[in-house]
Amino acid sequence: MLSNPSLALPLEKGGKVAEHYVGRFAPSPTGPLHFGSLITAVASYCDARAHQGRWVVRIEDTDIPRIYPCSEDHILRSIDAFQFEPDADIIFQKDRLDIYEQVIEQLHTQGLVYACQCTRKMLGSNHIYQGTCRELGLALKDQAIRVKVDDQDICFMDRLQGTHCSNLMRDLGDFVLKRRDGIINYQLAVVVDDYLQGMTHVVRGADLLDNTERQIWLAQILGYPKLEYMHLPLAMNDQGQKLSKQNMAQALDLNQAPALLQQAFAALQQAPVDLDTPRIMLQQAIAQWDIERIPHRLTLAQIYQ
Ligand SMILES: [Zn+2]
Repeated sequence: MLSNPSLALPLEKGGKVAEHYVGRFAPSPTGPLHFGSLITAVASYCDARAHQGRWVVRIEDTDIPRIYPCSEDHILRSIDAFQFEPDADIIFQKDRLDIYEQVIEQLHTQGLVYACQCTRKMLGSNHIYQGTCRELGLALKDQAIRVKVDDQDICFMDRLQGTHCSNLMRDLGDFVLKRRDGIINYQLAVVVDDYLQGMTHVVRGADLLDNTERQIWLAQILGYPKLEYMHLPLAMNDQGQKLSKQNMAQALDLNQAPALLQQAFAALQQAPVDLDTPRIMLQQAIAQWDIERIPHRLTLAQIYQ
């Protein structure tokens, strides 16, 4: 458990922290938000509010070279246009790099991380790291930093997808927490911030399902509490590809917020919501929110016109 009080993060704008449910929407600004992002935002928001929980927004921007110009601005304008009401100031991970460095230092003290000097070529093509540098005792400076995984099955019960398991040693090997260029790995930043923000529930796209065991395991070795997970089916384009920034998914048109919200509720197979201001539409959706209606399959074909 982190003992440094400077790592405690003031979460709320007012009132008491509701310990039973804190959820989040945590986009990466690698492109403007698209319809798939809206589904995640809507589902995380409605699920939190339907449980009288809190909901926060976090911008996951540690991978600075991949940040797309203006996309942070589009995310912030989208939060406003859809009239989501976060319960805390929005945090940016790129402002928090010293916190993640402290956690790496903590793991180093525990003997759980080491420097890796392997080149991409040495790593080969099967993507499972064989622990080549584990016992070399290299200095951490200017090297990739890996964490020592162990041979155990990590399983969790996803609220939509059922039981999901992985053995990190078998499926992945020791993984990178900090790249040689100094970029903090997404997995570490997510786990640390979920803990510091008091998160209890994660609602996000099924493209992140395979990251979950890594995050659960990291939280476990850091002594952080367990979270509940719900991985949503992914919106597809008409060529059957997942909507993503990489395949140029259309940016959300912020002048069409009510119509887009209706489409998002329909994609999640929720009861219909009357066209109104986004705030009122969200209130109606929260009142009738029912996760039993959300499709369990991993993709939502042909829902986005
Ligand atoms: Zn290595």
